[in-house]
Amino acid sequence: MALSEFELIARYFSDIGGAANGSGDSHLAQGGRRHTNTVVLGVGDDCALLALPPSEQLAISVDTLVADVHFPAGADAAAIARRALRVNLSDLAAMGATPRAFTLALTLPAVEPVWLERFAAGLRTDAEAFAIPLVGGDTTRGRALVITLQVMGSLPAGTALTRHGARPGDHIAVSGPLGAAAAAVPLLTRTDALSAQEQDWLERYWLPMPRLALGQRLRGLATAAIDISDGLAGDLGHILTRSKVGAVLEAAALPLAGEGDEALGQALHGGDDYELCFTVPAARWPEVERLGQELGQRLHSVGRIEAEPGLRLATAAGVEPLATRGYQHF
Ligand code: ADP
Ligand code: MG
Repeated sequence: MALSEFELIARYFSDIGGAANGSGDSHLAQGGRRHTNTVVLGVGDDCALLALPPSEQLAISVDTLVADVHFPAGADAAAIARRALRVNLSDLAAMGATPRAFTLALTLPAVEPVWLERFAAGLRTDAEAFAIPLVGGDTTRGRALVITLQVMGSLPAGTALTRHGARPGDHIAVSGPLGAAAAAVPLLTRTDALSAQEQDWLERYWLPMPRLALGQRLRGLATAAIDISDGLAGDLGHILTRSKVGAVLEAAALPLAGEGDEALGQALHGGDDYELCFTVPAARWPEVERLGQELGQRLHSVGRIEAEPGLRLATAAGVEPLATRGYQHF
């Protein structure tokens, strides 16, 4: 028998990440500080109610994923759900925020219990791992599968990492290898055996790691930050525009997921890596190195901010202008 909208919500979406609000333990929670009473009222009323400490600001971000635009419609529903949540959490990481709660607007072509079961299971896995409860949403029927997630986080007032603080002389850093997700896209529909490297790329595509602990620790240290969703050149370009500065990237310093010119292109202009790109005054670089050691994460210095506008790439052949194009939908 077909489920009604309300039965569907009650069955699949009424208790996701709820453990994040209670005792439970979350070994995966990257800096997801446990909050006992952020959620005053969750799924089931006209609004959810959240309570934040008075000294904190709310950080909000929303992202929409459309089937066959952002992910293959036929992919495993658990993987789709986990990736959707992680991509949104990455925006909280880029601001230095701690996850508090999220909402889910789901447009479905049909009610398929097997698919919904997998989707909810994937969502539950990562909602618990990152200590973020689902507090509400909307469920509608439509022609395409569309998933919209809104994440809410918080941080001490006035400490958010923004795109507009980079200054000439700052180091430009990235939090991990770039280009893997772009390299994975042609593999998404492959059915034959994959190499270990190809499997690693696919893993990075489906399960990007939102750098929440790093983002939180960069508050008061980084002058600007962004998460890399559209390639380093494009996303660093946003920092440059907002900060009214330029930059030079060192090609040899970029941590590439693969080898050669194709890998360089994927790192600069491919998308979906969800590593952080941030800027730090040169005098404070040793603090970044110590932080990387503490978090067990390599933080790579890949270039410098300069006063001269525009983005440049330094290679053995010299310094050339670099387009700040990334992936664009229109
Ligand atoms: P309203 O008509 O008042 O907007 P809805 O009928 O859309 O309420 O939803 C009923 C309750 O279920 C609300 O609390 C809403 O937040 C929640 N909800 C609806 N869809 C989802 C979903 N996909 N995930 C989580 N909560 C949902
Ligand atoms: Mg509604």
